[in-house]
Amino acid sequence: MPVNGACAGAGAAPCSGPMESLNLAENGSAVRESAPDFRHVQSWIFDLDNTLYRADNGIFTQIEARMTDYVAAFLKLPREDAYARQKELYRRYGTTLNGLMCEHGAQPDAYLSYVHDIDLSQLGPDRALAAAIARLPGRRFVFTNGCRDHAARILNRLDMAELFDAVWDIRTMAFQPKPQPAAYASVVEAGAVTTASAAMFDDIACNLVPARAMGMTTVWLKTDSPWGKHGPLMDVRESDIDHETENLTQFLNTIRI
Ligand SMILES: [Mg+2]
Repeated sequence: MPVNGACAGAGAAPCSGPMESLNLAENGSAVRESAPDFRHVQSWIFDLDNTLYRADNGIFTQIEARMTDYVAAFLKLPREDAYARQKELYRRYGTTLNGLMCEHGAQPDAYLSYVHDIDLSQLGPDRALAAAIARLPGRRFVFTNGCRDHAARILNRLDMAELFDAVWDIRTMAFQPKPQPAAYASVVEAGAVTTASAAMFDDIACNLVPARAMGMTTVWLKTDSPWGKHGPLMDVRESDIDHETENLTQFLNTIRI
């Protein structure tokens, strides 16, 4: 599992020494020479849920509850059994949807529209994060196991829709979700991304494993969520995570670009 080690998460103050120089970023914040170096990055790839908005705001809790409701109705199970079955499918297939498709012949459209039919009224613009993303040079992408309509609604609420060149959703991946390596191959091709000059940000650590294997710089957005460390399908080694942070805005304002 990832540990702090050489990771230079922005949650901690950057190291400083008496001879260290400071540069001023465009937003006026000081960027130290020892800050994480992202000057090679030309493609910025962000997960959506619990990455571009806080994991504790109840949005994903609503989605998760509707996943369980869907499984209960689709498999005709009591809700408690449906919850256990949903978690089992998630761990085995990477997403509940993929498990329902593989084991139960589910059709994705009905599932996706049902689980993403949630109340977003508590989600508002995050101007600090939007400004931090807007200063990133090159192309920016959203890479989500959710669907395009859900991503559009979230990005509109966050007032970030204009910040991204493309949204890669579960259809872009032909329903083979992160962290399956095929998902990454699909989106890299879709965006003509050079992986050595790409950085990926995700709150589920195992989603970074294939990205790191392809040569991307990886940043784990660390949350208190139970799924953050112990995601499905893959073990995470310390070397899979280049950086970790508990505050994406602060991290983006700290890095060298
Ligand atoms: Mg996420």
